Amino acid sequence: MPTEKPQGKPSQAIAPDLSRVHVVLVNTSHPGNIGATARALKNMGIANLRLVDPRDYPSDVAMWRAVSATDVLERARVFPTLVDAVADCSMVIGASARSRRMPWPMLTPRQCARHVLLETQRAADAISGDEAAKSGQIALVFGREDTGLTNDELQQCHYHVQIPANEEYSSLNLAAAVMVICYEVRIAMLEHAGDPRLGADAPMYDPASEDEYWDVPKADGHQMELFYQHLEKTLVDMDFHDPENPRLLMPRMRRLFGRIRPDSMEINILRGVLTYIDEHVRRANANTSANDKDTEKKTLKNKAK
Ligand code: SAH
Repeated sequence: MPTEKPQGKPSQAIAPDLSRVHVVLVNTSHPGNIGATARALKNMGIANLRLVDPRDYPSDVAMWRAVSATDVLERARVFPTLVDAVADCSMVIGASARSRRMPWPMLTPRQCARHVLLETQRAADAISGDEAAKSGQIALVFGREDTGLTNDELQQCHYHVQIPANEEYSSLNLAAAVMVICYEVRIAMLEHAGDPRLGADAPMYDPASEDEYWDVPKADGHQMELFYQHLEKTLVDMDFHDPENPRLLMPRMRRLFGRIRPDSMEINILRGVLTYIDEHVRRANANTSANDKDTEKKTLKNKAK
């Protein structure tokens, strides 16, 4: 039995093979949901769709809703009953929003994904001769839009999986429920394979380690001081800031930019903006004083008259 990959550096582990995973839709009414399910499957890297007695299929609506996943639909297999659809499966997990009177082994979507992954590996690792294990397929079974899965159908499943949705409205759209479960399967698979998009090296935004992958070095203290001086002067020249009554404007500006920790290019851009504003303020002031001088001259002339 394979063990879980330890957390940390991504390894060169091979991604588990999801080709044994089959999504089974039971007695679906709306072909649009079949198409949307095909799309969700392809998005999550699962290729196998099985349809048990679909009410309206094949269907153009299903094809439209599948968009670029029509290949999944074209390969989908149709079965008369759930028993037939899961006949070759060594693990069957049924998705249901409702708890049943007779409790069955319950899984969260994440636990479900781990079970699926371990089962794919168990089947892949099975020694030759253990043909049953080698051929083991895994079914994720979803019910009808109106009434879900019957008790009888749920009893054909080894486990039940429930998406912990809002208690006041816990029933998801069929294709949305398929997406949630298949997303968890995909994440479990990527984690196991040490996919760099999920591992410790993933470029997640974390202020503490930001410097490691940021493209431009952070502005240093000297650059920030020059910036604050420039900002203050511009705000005074604009008559926005009164140095006689400074209140907490500049400390608040420092706290704002301290939180952001701009890089040196960002500070250069901000200095450029300030210089641009300075120039406009200078021109506006020059115009005002020229106008004032005109008015002064006119007043003197009038007085002289
Ligand atoms: N009204 C139905 C729900 C149908 S939704 C009922 O009460 O059972 C169609 C299918 O989507 C369900 O049969 C189930 O397979 C899946 N589904 C919807 N919401 C779910 C949830 N919260 N948890 C697990 N599966 C869910």
